[in-house]
Amino acid sequence: MRPFSFNPGPRLISGEGSAARLAEVLPDGPCLFVTDKDLLGLGLTDACRSALEDGGRDIILFDSVEADPSKETLLAAVELGRRHDVTHVVGFGGGSPMDVAKLAAYLLGSGDELDSIWGVDIAKGPRLPLALVPTTAGTGSEATPISVITCEGGVKLAVNARPLVADWAALDASLTLGLPPHVTAATGIDAIVHAIEAYTSVRLKNPMSDALAREALKLLSANLLKAIEQPRDIEARSAMLLGAHLAGLAFASAPVGGVHALAYPLGGIHHLPHGLTNALMLRVVLQHNSDAARELYAELAPILAPECEGQGSQAKCATLIDRLDRMVVDSGLAPRLRDHGIPQEDVPMLAREAMKQQRLLVNNPCPIEEEDARRLYEAAW
Ligand SMILES: [Zn+2]
Repeated sequence: MRPFSFNPGPRLISGEGSAARLAEVLPDGPCLFVTDKDLLGLGLTDACRSALEDGGRDIILFDSVEADPSKETLLAAVELGRRHDVTHVVGFGGGSPMDVAKLAAYLLGSGDELDSIWGVDIAKGPRLPLALVPTTAGTGSEATPISVITCEGGVKLAVNARPLVADWAALDASLTLGLPPHVTAATGIDAIVHAIEAYTSVRLKNPMSDALAREALKLLSANLLKAIEQPRDIEARSAMLLGAHLAGLAFASAPVGGVHALAYPLGGIHHLPHGLTNALMLRVVLQHNSDAARELYAELAPILAPECEGQGSQAKCATLIDRLDRMVVDSGLAPRLRDHGIPQEDVPMLAREAMKQQRLLVNNPCPIEEEDARRLYEAAW
């Protein structure tokens, strides 16, 4: 067995009402509560905030997190927290509020400058106690040491460092019951891509991330369409939330690759949701990888299609790609770049931008050069 390292995630509290139970574990003192206006308006944060207040804490509410959160937003959250001398941070929402909360807790606790910590394992300081509550079954951000922030010119920069792993995560599937089908679809496909890319991550995959990725793919692929068709099916929603968390744990150790690298420019420049951009690039990147990753894709195929168990690896690999492609279509997402207003003339620029994601491209099972990227965007168009 190859030597490996594995990064454990946060302590987990799971089950209905678990977000409110964070009041039992978080420290006293003012709480920086990071969320967005939609979640606040829907009342989803009420039980958790009341429980924290009943415990005697002041809630310092920061609800201005947007999709693909900007550096300005993050720094505004940090400034608010500093002004109120908060003792801990709660991130409540999809990937965006959680990513802001993670870095806010770190910057408040360490006093570091944001521009000095971009990259892998550069942030080493202390952070404030941190709890995360995901309200989508997608990013798995509550499990990972990664925070992605949109900077000048739409470029996404990431901090990937151990101190960003939260102390606690609450998995409360009742918070996801109201998600509309297109959000359930896009975030669920994102989580599926996390599991697949972790399983084929060339440098850092290991027996722990493999086990998590397989279990994640099983939970997610068996429940995605159920959760879309029966939004209030709490069993399906719980399986999706756990699957997304397990996929997050997997890619925290075995980072994602080409699908994410080619998806990022679509989010950064055209502001499409992160999960959707992954769904759009999934089929073409897997096809590009299918020689290099054939055996690994073949190992995953029976999870989605048990009937292919006895087949050869080439047939299994084709089955996996076909099933995933069908799942994207069945989930109701329009599967082409042109369906989402991306002009074909943008292809060369998108390919150029994708080359900036070398931190992800190095994890892909085979190289993706700029001319490959151009071909893949064309194929996805
Ligand atoms: Zn993702």
